[in-house]
Amino acid sequence: MALSLSLTACTHLLETRAAANVPSPSSSGQAIPITPSTPPISSDDPASDPSIQILVNKQKSLDADYAPEDLVRVDVPTVLKSEEVNQLRKEAADALKALFAGAETAGFKLYARSGYRSYKTQTALFAGYVKNHGEKEANRFSARAGQSEHQTGLAMDITSDSVSLQLSEDFGDTEEGQWVREHAPEYGFIVRYPKGKEDITGYMYEPWHLRYLGTKLAADVARSGLTYDEYAAKAADGGNPS
Ligand SMILES: [Zn+2]
Repeated sequence: MALSLSLTACTHLLETRAAANVPSPSSSGQAIPITPSTPPISSDDPASDPSIQILVNKQKSLDADYAPEDLVRVDVPTVLKSEEVNQLRKEAADALKALFAGAETAGFKLYARSGYRSYKTQTALFAGYVKNHGEKEANRFSARAGQSEHQTGLAMDITSDSVSLQLSEDFGDTEEGQWVREHAPEYGFIVRYPKGKEDITGYMYEPWHLRYLGTKLAADVARSGLTYDEYAAKAADGGNPS
């Protein structure tokens, strides 16, 4: 039986149910065919602002005072009452609406659970996890302030009724979770922390955490089979990420 996690990199501050065991990602990551001709990160996607491509991880932090200027409330079903977390940057919010509409056409109802989080919110969140779980364990499933993609306004945690509107690894095995993994790139999103990649991303498998990159880059990253950390590093080196 897979555990339903309530304490994750993405979980909202108000969710304080204890997670005694944080499961390790399995080694069975999805096999995505690699296309040799994929170009490096480019800005030729007319829909995308170059700042959409920002890489944030445990090595690349955002400033404490960074906040996107174009946050809007998402126009999709949400779970939490917090106004802050129900926001994304405009382009990502529009894409999320399209993704949810696509899912609905396929017969699935999705919910947005946690999107934008300020540096201040993330500071409080991580401190709470460290208090309850110790720093080492907290670091596996949560981000230090400045290191969370949620501060970019380009990441959204999604869920569904089949996982009781929680953030759960089980979401990846549901029909809607599988649909999302397969179709997210068509709408400009990737599943940012794939199964079996914790040693690269620094995070356990999070089938619910979507990162907006724009349709072209999301498709390129998905096709490459790389994490965004690897893809962006190769592109920055001037190499061909694929
Ligand atoms: Zn998340």
